[in-house]
Amino acid sequence: MNGLDAEEVLLPDLDDLEIANIEIGGDTVTVSACARAPEALCPACGARSRRVHSRYERRLADSAIGGRRVIVKLQVRRFRCPTTSCPRATFVEQVAGLTFRHGRRSLRLHTILQTVALMLAGRAGARLSDVLSSKVSRSTLLRLVRAMPDPQTTTPRVLGVDDFALRKGHVYGTVLINIETRRPVDLLPDREAATLARWLTEHPGVEVICRDRAIGYAEGARLGAPDAVQVADRWHLFHNLTEAVERCVTRHSTQLREPAHIPTPEESAAALAELEKITATAKADRGAHRYADRTRDRHDAVHALLDQGLSRWEISRRLGLARGTVRRFARAAAPEELVAGKWQGRASVLDDYKPYLHQRWQEGCTTAKTLFDEIKAAGYTGGLTVLRDYLRPLRSGAQPQDRSTRPPSVRDVTSWITRHPDSLTPDKTLKLKGILARCPNSIPPLTTSGPSPR
Ligand SMILES: [Zn+2]
Repeated sequence: MNGLDAEEVLLPDLDDLEIANIEIGGDTVTVSACARAPEALCPACGARSRRVHSRYERRLADSAIGGRRVIVKLQVRRFRCPTTSCPRATFVEQVAGLTFRHGRRSLRLHTILQTVALMLAGRAGARLSDVLSSKVSRSTLLRLVRAMPDPQTTTPRVLGVDDFALRKGHVYGTVLINIETRRPVDLLPDREAATLARWLTEHPGVEVICRDRAIGYAEGARLGAPDAVQVADRWHLFHNLTEAVERCVTRHSTQLREPAHIPTPEESAAALAELEKITATAKADRGAHRYADRTRDRHDAVHALLDQGLSRWEISRRLGLARGTVRRFARAAAPEELVAGKWQGRASVLDDYKPYLHQRWQEGCTTAKTLFDEIKAAGYTGGLTVLRDYLRPLRSGAQPQDRSTRPPSVRDVTSWITRHPDSLTPDKTLKLKGILARCPNSIPPLTTSGPSPR
């Protein structure tokens, strides 16, 4: 052991003691020891005393060693105080770093359990204490927390006031927060105006009171701190707004899905003819089949139809182009704008043909080979397997893997409306625009229905 004593290593708290015996019985280590300091200090007057009045044994639980709980049987002395005027005629010695007055645990175990209680509270803390071979009940842990002194706080300049449930739906209290440090300042036993007013009177100096919009706290703040500025806190404003938007979106929930369009056979034939026409140039000249040429052709076709006054949706259907593709073409004044940049990285060779495939599928054509031949004739350069993989979910009756066909939920749309527009992806911005366009009365009147503001 390099000259180290095993007791010194395993029982550092007991360094100042004379250890008489160590016993192992089952899962418990029992250490018998006695204090050996020649004198002790009176806790009341601070006088030193060497006059022993009596001795007795204290039992202390210490932190576990090697998974065994540790009990210290400690012989301590009661001393006589030498100061005649001292209110304490006798006192019991404490061992520094080990004992404290009336404590039944060592200082170290006490600190460990306090930390466990603060981190995990009652039930979970009690389970951990068992694992640490220092089992205590959940009530003991809660008592440890309650016995800790309240942290020192100063009266905040900006005070947040809100209610919290002691028992949800039945008993509510009020929590006071220092908004600048974000730390709790105090708890009030109820949410009455008078209680808050009293606290504010006893703690002058609050300049701003941040609260919900219920009348109780407004009244309490007015009475207790008439000079303080009252502001509605942002959380409650956003919460109320979001609830109002959600109610409105729910009323329009049938309009969230994009309307299904079942094309007539004439439209289908026309779409196929358009698609063939667009890709004809590229097919005729495969050697010069360059991305830039195709882009120019499509750009021309899209802008020709836009000039005829057709909607982008209609153009995407007619040309068999994805709607995002049509949008990009429509926005670009010249095809050159589209050739440069990141647009080349397309998700799938099938993208341009998906609207056409969906149209044919709805018409009843579900044979992969037939569809393959059709889109190949229209310029599709991918393989049959890619097409088969794409059609598989359609076969099983599931929604196609194109997530854009799943209608957004009320929650989705509520979040799109209430979020900052800059934080929305272009895809969501477009979907939201579509939904707002389908709901002519989509700007909701500010109603007072629903729960009263808090
Ligand atoms: Zn004394």
